[in-house]
Amino acid sequence: MEKSVIHLEGIRKSYFLGKNELPVLKGVSLDIFKNEYVALMGPSGSGKSTLMNILGCLDTPTAGKYVLSGHDVSKMEDNDLATVRGKEIGFVFQQFNLMPRLTALENVAIPLIYAGINKKERTERAIMMLEKVGLGERYKHKPNELSGGQCQRVAIARALVNNPSLILADEPTGNLDSKTSVEIMDIFGAIHASGNTVVLVTHEEDIAEHAKRVIRLRDGVIESDRINQKAPAL
Ligand code: ADP
Ligand code: MG
Repeated sequence: MEKSVIHLEGIRKSYFLGKNELPVLKGVSLDIFKNEYVALMGPSGSGKSTLMNILGCLDTPTAGKYVLSGHDVSKMEDNDLATVRGKEIGFVFQQFNLMPRLTALENVAIPLIYAGINKKERTERAIMMLEKVGLGERYKHKPNELSGGQCQRVAIARALVNNPSLILADEPTGNLDSKTSVEIMDIFGAIHASGNTVVLVTHEEDIAEHAKRVIRLRDGVIESDRINQKAPAL
């Protein structure tokens, strides 16, 4: 049998504002297998980021089951969740979320500090990752000395540096012009081609065309889940 990286069963998520419950995810069940490349689409407010935060172990569901690479994470306490997150997940955000006072190299090395890796190896691996995303010679620059596209490359390198089993990206091209977006999507294509599992949120149809499978969310449920015939061949 194929190996599920993500297994979701009846995932529900509500936000509570005082006594008011806002149900956002209303029963999402889904399997994503190793080496899949999935685009998650849907209108603004449909629950895409809420689902991504659960997938990334940044938040927990109100109800339902989430098994990530064999770990049942839906009932884990924060500490254990953070450990699984550090090992299994690389997360790329729309706003890059880089540390402004750290260089590109130091930003990329952050997950390796948590993984307990020594400084020499951290530096080597971070430089290797920056080279992989085409930023080899800019490793001493800080985020405010880099363009948006370069910042996103740093964020992608940081997401990949600890060899996670799952790469999640929530609107990674949302702050970028169209030419830079294509360059960033090419990097995600290469990440997938080298054997990674990728789930990426976008609301742009032409961005989603890069993915092999397109899942559409509407009002907190999966509206459709289809194979994308137009995805570029590897
Ligand atoms: P999308 O990413 O598809 O635009 P979100 O998952 O961000 O959708 O949001 C879904 C709904 O949940 C929206 O109505 C949003 O206002 C609400 N929401 C998101 N995060 C929170 C939060 N932390 N607290 C309360 N409501 C939230
Ligand atoms: Mg969102």
